[in-house]
Amino acid sequence: MIASQLTPSTRLLLGPGPSDAHPRVLTAMTTPLLGHLDPQFLEIMTETQAMLREVFGTANRLTFPISATGMAGMEACFVNLLEPGDSVVVCAAGFFGVRMIDIAERTGAKVIALQQKWGEAFDLDRIFEVLKRERPKAIGIVHAETSTGVAQSLEGLGDLCRELGTLLIVDCVTSLGCTPLKLDELKIDAAFSCSQKGLGCPPGLSPLSFGDRAVAALKARKTKVQSWYLDMTAIESYWGGDRSYHHTAPISMIYALREGLRIVLEEGLEARWARHRRNHLALKAGLEAIGLNYIAAPECRLPQLNAVHIPAGVEDIPNRKRMLTDFGIEIGGGLGDFKGKAWRIGLMGYNSKPSSVFQVLAALEVVLRGAGAKVVPGAGVAAAESAYD
Ligand SMILES: *Cc1c(COP(=O)(O)O)cnc(C)c1O
Repeated sequence: MIASQLTPSTRLLLGPGPSDAHPRVLTAMTTPLLGHLDPQFLEIMTETQAMLREVFGTANRLTFPISATGMAGMEACFVNLLEPGDSVVVCAAGFFGVRMIDIAERTGAKVIALQQKWGEAFDLDRIFEVLKRERPKAIGIVHAETSTGVAQSLEGLGDLCRELGTLLIVDCVTSLGCTPLKLDELKIDAAFSCSQKGLGCPPGLSPLSFGDRAVAALKARKTKVQSWYLDMTAIESYWGGDRSYHHTAPISMIYALREGLRIVLEEGLEARWARHRRNHLALKAGLEAIGLNYIAAPECRLPQLNAVHIPAGVEDIPNRKRMLTDFGIEIGGGLGDFKGKAWRIGLMGYNSKPSSVFQVLAALEVVLRGAGAKVVPGAGVAAAESAYD
């Protein structure tokens, strides 16, 4: 059997990721391949790492993209920094926090799981208390919980971790490139992200950064890292030092990331964060005008991921399907506790722009009216327009 020629429909990806890649990134990906040990490619690796450090806000030498998606970055942090007998606090207030617990448990470490109601942020004092009592080797927390649209403050957490000798591991998958994040200022010891959300690239890479304390913990291990592929002590010699073969780097994806990072730095981090905020505020005005209310409280909303309750009487799947088939727009459904009850609208990276805001609002108005909801035609679009003014 030979499948037909590939002709996917044009979509506007406004879900929780992937978001659309920047056209310049897609062009970079069609550049001819180099060998993964070609001097020119080694130079491209060095440049990519330098830009990645800047975007992460870190001087960490061990900063590079893992050749896999965000989940591999999560797994890499836990398998490298924990071994049987260690203890770790994991904070879960949504789908990705819960996954972090599962991954931490598989390392054989003792896991102290701190749960928070989905849709809420952790009160840091509660975390501080647990840390002082347990003095764990590490703590894992999600900076931007994509399943609920909640931003988690990390204020003061890094300082306390330094004081207690605890490693701070942060999931920055949805925050990098969208909302303020500076690893060194926040004293984050290990962080991971992805290529397909705030960086405007396709999925396939997981930028990762280990600080000195994480590297020291890695060197002090008594047992081998459980995963061969994600063993940082081995990958380090490829990405970190002498560039000796570990695995074949996904060349085209590195081209993509390099271009994505160039675009981020050309725009400037502050300007990029402000753009995400501005488009979020316009979308928020529009969503509220058509009766879609946020799950997260105003003080902890993510601009890049707008999670709203589906109005009573409106079905989830048929209406999301209509968004896709009639308007070519993908939005996300709810996960876990919010399955069938929430819609998640992403304005990430390249897609955080007025045209996305107006397109999704116009489509939602039509879809909601079709589903019997009371929506004044044009109300959402008009509210977004005045928010931009
Ligand atoms: C998307 C996401 C992940 C997983 O990343 P993949 O690239 O899908 O493997 C992990 N954590 C958070 C917070 C995410 O939003």
